[in-house]
Amino acid sequence: MLSDRKMYSVSNKHQNRSEFKPLPVVIIGNGPSGICLSYLLSGYVPYFKRDSLHPHSILQRKLEEAPDVSILDQDLEYLSEGLEGRSHSPVALLFDTLLRPDTDFGGTAESVLTWWHETNRVIPHLVLGRNPPGGAWHSIEGSMITLSRGEWMGLPDLQFKDWLRQKRRGLRNNRATAEDIAQYYQHYVMKKGLQKNFRCGTVVTSVRKVSAESIFNHAQKDLQEKSDSLWNFTEENMEVFKVDGFFKTLKGDQELFSIYAENVVLATGTYDSPTWLGVKGENLSYVHHQLSALEEAVKDNSIGIMSDPVLIVGAGLTAADAILFAHHCSIPVIHVFRRTVNDPGLIFNQLPKVMYPEYHKVHQMMKEQSAACSGPYDCYVSLPEHHVLSFGKDKKCILQDKNGYQKVYKISMALVLTGSNPNLSFLPNNGIDLAMDCDQPVNPKRNPIDVDPFTYECTQEKGLYALGPLAGDNFVRFVQGGALAVASSLLKKANKNPP
Ligand SMILES: Cc1cc2nc3c(=O)[nH]c(=O)nc-3n(C[C@H](O)[C@H](O)[C@H](O)COP(=O)(O)OP(=O)(O)OC[C@H]3O[C@@H](n4cnc5c(N)ncnc54)[C@H](O)[C@@H]3O)c2cc1C
Repeated sequence: MLSDRKMYSVSNKHQNRSEFKPLPVVIIGNGPSGICLSYLLSGYVPYFKRDSLHPHSILQRKLEEAPDVSILDQDLEYLSEGLEGRSHSPVALLFDTLLRPDTDFGGTAESVLTWWHETNRVIPHLVLGRNPPGGAWHSIEGSMITLSRGEWMGLPDLQFKDWLRQKRRGLRNNRATAEDIAQYYQHYVMKKGLQKNFRCGTVVTSVRKVSAESIFNHAQKDLQEKSDSLWNFTEENMEVFKVDGFFKTLKGDQELFSIYAENVVLATGTYDSPTWLGVKGENLSYVHHQLSALEEAVKDNSIGIMSDPVLIVGAGLTAADAILFAHHCSIPVIHVFRRTVNDPGLIFNQLPKVMYPEYHKVHQMMKEQSAACSGPYDCYVSLPEHHVLSFGKDKKCILQDKNGYQKVYKISMALVLTGSNPNLSFLPNNGIDLAMDCDQPVNPKRNPIDVDPFTYECTQEKGLYALGPLAGDNFVRFVQGGALAVASSLLKKANKNPP
């Protein structure tokens, strides 16, 4: 989407100061979180649909109190009070239940929201992202089937099932493929006319607070067009964010850019930095940390049925996807993981068998086909309670069991699929100062960024917001509530700054 057309301007000291106002908002990350926020900032405003009946009677009563006031302008704390569900975030539960009122009870009731496009409520913003719109969904293997039900992957006011129907495609066991999800998000951006705000192929390398004066003192090449924002920037007392990075031109060159912004939203997800084991030889070329490496190796015939086994490390869903893929291609697999097969913390022990038959099958393989007892599955060996000690240059790796017993295996390639971490290297101190426990790295499950639950503004840095897994919301259906909270907070700020 990023083209050579005139989308950036060079400012210099002689230009009119008012022409180079900082942008009100820069969103870093163009996955579902960034897309949903861009939709709300583009003037799409949700109201309670008159005559609709929400199954939660207390919420219904509250919604009826002010039907003419948009949800964005209402007190989100009041509306969300007392809601319960599968998220810890009250605003995530609120937006989810407004969009999908009875979904947790298996119902398909329509959303109780109606959307109005109010151009006077637009907040100028840019969405920067490495991939096409859709974020992590462009990196996840396309044939992978979502864990969530298909309808939970949809964004506001464009049902995923309607898009699927239009494409003449269907769900599998109520779930969708990653490829369909990625395409739907791209379609959403086009359909809602958001693409003018998106700068794809863009990587942010630094975000720093600077004094507003520095905007005018430095010649800069930037991605922002001259702003005719309704948002009134008050120059006197302001610090702003300087966002630096690079983007790839159509010719494949890298161009640097700088953008100044009053508010920055971190929506960079957690998929970019796979976890490393930290063992000797892990940087050798046959050791990989992404499932896509296996698909590529199969595609270019560098591995096949007759190859030495592929070593798959990890017992999460990505490792399971790798096993299924290898099994499908009849490629031999050695599967190493630290837990026991019956460990209640193992994801397979938490998933209902009926809904996830393929993961249940992997779990069965893990249980029935260990090195000690051969089972019915060809080309697969399960090594529970083992870990990797080292990878050798000769493609021999040393594994150790819980009793310290070591064994050497000759493999064709290794896939270390033990999770991933957010990459916040563009923030001072890797963003650690923003975390709940600011002595530990940010982690979506154990140590998310500390945000106000009703605005998603970082408690440690005013004007900086965090969304999605970074703020502890790990599922697409729940990242959208964070976007609602951020949009509501930014609109309130805008109202304090009337033009
Ligand atoms: C294998 C897998 C399966 C999943 N299955 C499900 C499921 O079934 N249901 C569900 O609800 N959720 C699922 N999830 C979680 C889901 O992907 C996330 O909750 C969701 O994508 C988060 O959206 P996001 O917009 O916050 O971040 P992301 O989708 O991760 O998007 C963030 C984007 O920001 C980009 N970015 C990062 N750093 C920079 C930078 N410095 N400069 C520019 N761009 C940057 C990234 O490249 C990425 O494209 C799954 C995740 C994975 C990895």
